[in-house]
Amino acid sequence: MTDKPSHFIRDEVVEDLRTGRFTGVVTRFPPEPNGYLHIGHAKAICLDFGLAQEFGGRCHLRFDDTNPTKESQEYVDAIMRDVRWLGFDWGEHLYHASDYFERLYRWAEQLIRAGKAYVDDLTADEIRAYRGTLTEAGQASPHRSRSVEDNLDLFRRMRAGEFEDGTKTLRAKIDMAAPNLNLRDPVMYRIRKTTHQRTGDAWRIYPMYDWAHGQSDSIEGVTHSLCTLEYEDHRPLYDWYLDALGIDHPRQIEFARLNLSHTIMSKRKLLTLVEDGIVSGWDDPRMPTLAGLRRRGYTPESIRDFSERIGIAKSDNLVDVALLEHCLREDLNRRALRRMAVLRPLRLVIENYPEGQIEEVAAINNPEDPSAGTRRVPFGRELWIEQDDFRETPPPKYFRLSPGVEVRLRYAYIVKCTGVERDASGQIMTVRCTYDPASRGGDAKGRKVKGTIHWVSARHAVDAEVRLYETLFSVPKPDEADDVRTVLSPSSLEVLTGCKLEPALASAEPEARVQFERVGYFCADWRDHAPGRRLVFNRTVGLRDTWAKIERSGR
Ligand code: ATP
Ligand code: MG
Repeated sequence: MTDKPSHFIRDEVVEDLRTGRFTGVVTRFPPEPNGYLHIGHAKAICLDFGLAQEFGGRCHLRFDDTNPTKESQEYVDAIMRDVRWLGFDWGEHLYHASDYFERLYRWAEQLIRAGKAYVDDLTADEIRAYRGTLTEAGQASPHRSRSVEDNLDLFRRMRAGEFEDGTKTLRAKIDMAAPNLNLRDPVMYRIRKTTHQRTGDAWRIYPMYDWAHGQSDSIEGVTHSLCTLEYEDHRPLYDWYLDALGIDHPRQIEFARLNLSHTIMSKRKLLTLVEDGIVSGWDDPRMPTLAGLRRRGYTPESIRDFSERIGIAKSDNLVDVALLEHCLREDLNRRALRRMAVLRPLRLVIENYPEGQIEEVAAINNPEDPSAGTRRVPFGRELWIEQDDFRETPPPKYFRLSPGVEVRLRYAYIVKCTGVERDASGQIMTVRCTYDPASRGGDAKGRKVKGTIHWVSARHAVDAEVRLYETLFSVPKPDEADDVRTVLSPSSLEVLTGCKLEPALASAEPEARVQFERVGYFCADWRDHAPGRRLVFNRTVGLRDTWAKIERSGR
C-alpha cells in the first residue's frame, strides 16, 4: 500500500477497515477562518488529505465558521489558496459549518424535547463559577430544571433575537459532577447579534465548536475526524452529542500538534504581530504562515517532506526549525538554478584585460541537474565582487583575494591582486588585479589557487534590492515569553539596495527560486518584484545546513 513509515493513526485506520467499523476513509480539514494557515496547519492538512489519498477516500475542506466576530472572507480566500498551493484538492467537497446551522438548530430542539438541553440565564462568569473545579463538583444552575415547553419557547425567542448578547445560552444537560469538566453542562449556543460573512443576519445565535463539529462530521459522512491533543478531553462530549442524537458516528482521533522552535503559532498572537505592524502582513516572509513561507521561497514539496519526516505522535514535542530548513535546502539544491549575485559590491579592475573587450563564459545552471544546461555570462575588465571576498590584511586561513594572492573567478580566469585604490577618506574603492589569459575556465595549470569567488560584470550588472531574513524571534521558545514583542530578534530583516546581479536575473518572474552562488537561496518577491523594472529578492535560507549537526548531537 505504501512504503512510508506507519504511525498510530494509519494503524487505527487500517484496523477500522479490517474490522468493518468503516468501509472507506473520509477525513476533513476544518480551519476556522480567523487567520491565515501556518506550518502547524500544514501538518494537519498533510495528514488529513494524505490519509484520504492513500486509502482511496476523500478529504473535505470545511470552514469551522461558527464565530462571526473573528472571521472574514479574506481569511476564507487565503486558506483555500494556501491549501491548493500546498498541493491538495478537496474537489467538490467544500463545506461550511454554517451550511448546517438550520440542521443543528433542529437537533438542538430535539435534545430539548428529550430533556437533554435547557436554556440558562446565567452569565458567562456565573457559568464558570458554577462549573466547579477538578477537585470539586459543579453546582446546578437554578434554571436547569425548566420545563421542556419553557425551554423550547425561550430557545425559539433566542433565535428570533428577543434577547441581548450574553443574557442566555442553551446548555446540554449532562452531569454537573462529571470528572471531565467538558461534560458539566457545556454551552451549545450563545447569542451573538453579529453579521456572519455567509449567513448575514439570519442568525442571532451561534453554535459552539463542540456542538457544531461532530454533527458536521456526521452529516458529511466523515469516518476519521483527526484533531490535535487539546481536543482529547472534548472527545467524550463529541461522542455524547452523537449518541444523544442517534446519528452516524465518526471517530475522533487526536495527535500532537506541531511546535516549531523560534516560532509562534497561535493565530491570536500572529494577528497581534500583523496589527502592531511588527511584520508587514500575514505574508511577511518571516511569518510561519504558508503565505509567508511561500513568499520567503519555500516550496510546497519541502513542506510536505517536512510533515512526513516529523511523523505523527501522541505527545507534544518541539521540532527544531533547522529540520524545516534542511528539507527546504534538499529540495532547492535539486531544483534551484545557480546564478551569480554580489550583495555588497566592491569594484575589481583587471589591469591587463583589454579596455572595451567583452567575452562570455559558460556557467552551469545546476550541477545537480544536467538537464538544466548552461548559460553564457558576460565578462569584462571591470567586475563587482563581494566586499567580504577581499581583505587587505587577510586573517589566517583566508583563501580569498588579498594583495599578492591569486584566486579563481568562478567560470572565468585566475587573477592576482596588485593593489587597491582609495578615496580621500582612505576607504578602499577599487581592487586592482591582473589576469592570466591562459587560465580561462579556471584552469590553474599546476599552481596552487585555493579560493574561488563569484563576480558580476560591472557593465552588465542589474541592480536589485535584496532582503535578508532571519528568524523573527531570538529565543527557541518565544511562546514562553509573557509578551512576544520582548523576544523579537533585532536582525530578522536587513534590506540591501544596490546589489549587483548577473543579467540573466533581470527577467526572473516573481516567485522564481534561485541559488546565488556561495551566498544562499533566494526567491523573487511575489509582491514587489517586477521583471525588467524593479528586482527584489528575498533570502530564503543560507547554504549552511545546521540540521546534521543538531541530529548528531542527539537532540
Ligand atoms: P489557533 O489556536 O492558533 O487559533 P487552531 O487550532 O484553533 O489554531 P484551526 O483553524 O481551528 O486553528 O485549526 C484547524 C485544524 O488544524 C485543526 O484540526 C487543528 O487541530 C489543526 N492544527 C492547528 N494548529 C496545529 C498545529 N500546530 N499542529 C498540527 N495541527 C494543527
Ligand atoms: Mg480552533
